[in-house]
Amino acid sequence: MKNRGVITLAFDDGYQAVYDEVLPLLAFYNIHAVFAVPLTPKDNVIAGEPIAHANKWLAAAQKYGHEIAAHSIHHADLTALSQSELKHELEDPSAELSTKTIVYPGGAHNDHVITSAKNFYTAGRTVLHGLETLPPKDVMRLHTINFTKKNFSVLRANIHALRAFVQNKWLIETYHFVSKKSSPLKHSTLLADLDAHLDFITSLPISIKTIQEAL
Ligand SMILES: [Zn+2]
Repeated sequence: MKNRGVITLAFDDGYQAVYDEVLPLLAFYNIHAVFAVPLTPKDNVIAGEPIAHANKWLAAAQKYGHEIAAHSIHHADLTALSQSELKHELEDPSAELSTKTIVYPGGAHNDHVITSAKNFYTAGRTVLHGLETLPPKDVMRLHTINFTKKNFSVLRANIHALRAFVQNKWLIETYHFVSKKSSPLKHSTLLADLDAHLDFITSLPISIKTIQEAL
């Protein structure tokens, strides 16, 4: 069967649990993913869970071929900043992580944020719901399927992948906290479920790429 469609796996916030548990799983399947990591979030914690330092993510990305995406310095709402703060939150990650992709923290963006982000980045991922066209209509406003505890099941995720294949579209899957044990967090997924989904998509004739690889 001919290869059709693209899947990108994006993991937001850089949780230590994702570093410890998801990196080995991706290595097992030989998948390159995208990790959106804030440079220095307050107390190195997001949603009550510890974050692995951006330098650790950079080293892992080099080792395994993953893409690091900017996610601001402080996991800031980019729509709520002064012009100088906005520039700072955009510019430092682009330089320190040497990345051309941004994932807007909390998905928060507007025309002003996008105009400023274009000074440093060539692609931006939102949390707007849907499959992307290939090539995308607006590369600074990439759509995604943002998985939560409520909307994720292995079957649903597999159906999204099949849709991307059949319609020759780009499915960007967004995950946040992933762990072996069930978490009370809204944006959490079980490692075993992710494993089952990866097992399925790696059996499909569909490309699995990072954002920059897909563009
Ligand atoms: Zn985030």
